[in-house]
Amino acid sequence: MIQFDNSYARLPAGFFTRTPPTPVREARLLALNEPLAKRMGLDANWLASAQGVEMLAGNDLPEGADPIAMAYAGHQFGGFVPQLGDGRAVLLGEVVAPDGHRFDIQLKGSGPTPFSRRGDGRAWMGPVLREYLVSEFMAAMGVPTTRSLAAVATGETVMREAPLPGAVLTRVASSHIRVGTFEYFAVRGNIEALKALSDHAIDRHYPHAHGPLTLLDGVIARQAETIAQWMALGFIHGVMNTDNMAVSGETIDYGPCAFMDAYHPDKVFSSIDQMGRYRWSEQPQIAVWNLAQLATCLIPLMGEREAAIEAATHSVHAFPALYQAAWLRRFGEKLGISATPEDRGLIERLLTLMAEQGADFTRVFAGLSDGSARDEFTDRAAFDAWAKDWQALQPDAQIMAHANPRRVPRNHRIEQAITAAVAGDLEPFQRLFDAVTHPREDREAWRDLSIAPEPDEIVKRTFCGT
Ligand code: AMP
Ligand code: MG
Ligand code: MG
Repeated sequence: MIQFDNSYARLPAGFFTRTPPTPVREARLLALNEPLAKRMGLDANWLASAQGVEMLAGNDLPEGADPIAMAYAGHQFGGFVPQLGDGRAVLLGEVVAPDGHRFDIQLKGSGPTPFSRRGDGRAWMGPVLREYLVSEFMAAMGVPTTRSLAAVATGETVMREAPLPGAVLTRVASSHIRVGTFEYFAVRGNIEALKALSDHAIDRHYPHAHGPLTLLDGVIARQAETIAQWMALGFIHGVMNTDNMAVSGETIDYGPCAFMDAYHPDKVFSSIDQMGRYRWSEQPQIAVWNLAQLATCLIPLMGEREAAIEAATHSVHAFPALYQAAWLRRFGEKLGISATPEDRGLIERLLTLMAEQGADFTRVFAGLSDGSARDEFTDRAAFDAWAKDWQALQPDAQIMAHANPRRVPRNHRIEQAITAAVAGDLEPFQRLFDAVTHPREDREAWRDLSIAPEPDEIVKRTFCGT
C-alpha cells in the first residue's frame, strides 16, 4: 500500500545497519494525522486499518520497506561522542509525495538496534504524545520541522522511573541527516563517505548547491531562519546537541522541549540541562557552535586546506547577520510592522518589560491585537508608554494575527493530556491537538487552553523521559 523508495539505504554499508523493528504485544492506534497522510499521498483509511496499525507499530513490515538504523555521532552538551546512532528508531523507508517532496518514514520507539548502548530501544506514551503535539503545532505555525504521522500504544510496559505504557511514534522528516551524521564520518577520517553524504544531502535538500561550501551556506541560512522562528514562539528546544540538528533545517528531536509561559530570556526546562547551556536566549549561539562543527567536518572536502578553513569560517560568521535579520523580521511581524534596524529597540523594550514583570509570552503578543496585552503587566503605565510608541508605527492587524498564535501547547496542558491518555482517556489529547493545530483560530471552546498555568500548575522541569 505504500510505495517506498529507499535512497539512504542505497548509500554505502557503513552509513547504517539493517535492523527491523521489534514487534510489540498489542498495537492500538492513539492518533493518526490524516492531513499529513494526505499531504504525503498515503491512504489514511488504510493506515487506520488493522493492517496499517500493525505496520505503524513495527509488527508488520510493508513491502518495499528497507528498515535501517542510521549511524551518527554527536556533541552532547559540548562533549563529543563518536558513536550515537538510532538507538530506538528505524527508518522504514522514504516515500515521494504527489508533489515530488521526499519524506522519511521513521518508527521511533521501535526496539533495540546495534546503536542502543544501554537503552531499551523503546519510548513511553508521554514523550510520544508530547512530540506529536508540539511538532504538529510547529508545522501549523510554519516552522520547519519533522512531523508526526501516527502514535500507537504497544500494550507493553516500559521501565523508567516507574513502569509506564509504551508507544511508537511515526516520525516524518525531509531526512534524518544530522550535523552528527557528518561528524560520524569526519572523526573516522572517512573522506569518501563524507563526500557521498555531502552529495546525498545536496541532492535532497540543496539542489542548487554545487559543493560542500554552498551546502554549508545553505544549512546555515536555513538554521538561522528556523531558530529565529523558535525564538518568536518562545520555544526552547532543550537538547541542541549536534546530533539533534538536522541539515534540512527542520526542527528535530522533541525531547524536553517547552514553550515559555512567563517570559524570561534565561528560561530552561530540561532536567538534564543543569548549566542552562540550551536556555532560550542561548539558542542562536549554540546554533553557531553546532554549525561550526559541521563546517569543520566539511573542510576536508573543500580542497586546499588553508583556503578551505578561511572560506568555511567566513560562512559560519555569516550566521549572526542572517539570524539577526530573521529575528527582526519575525519579531517585527509579531508587532505588525515590517521592522527596520531602528525598530529593534522598540522590540527589545517590550521584551525587557515582559521579563521584568514576568508577563506571559504568548498572551502578550496575542493580546496586542485586542488591547488585552496590557492586562499581562503589573506596571500598566510602563506598558502604556511602550504601546504609545508602538501604535505610532501603525501596526497591521493581519500580520500580527498570522505571526502570533492564540495558544501554544503549554507544558501543563501537555502533561494533563498525557496523564489522561495513560489512564485511557484520549479526549484531552485530541482536544489539545485540534486547538494547537489551529493556533490562529479563536474558538470559545478553546479559551481555557490560552490561559497561563496557575502557580500550582506550572511545570518547572521537563524530562527527556525517553
Ligand atoms: P537524544 O538525547 O534523544 O538525542 O538521544 C541521544 C541518543 O540516545 C540517540 O543515539 C538515541 O537513539 C539514544 N537513545 C535515547 N533513548 C534511547 C532508548 N530508550 N533506547 C536506546 N537508545 C536511546
Ligand atoms: Mg536525538
Ligand atoms: Mg530524543
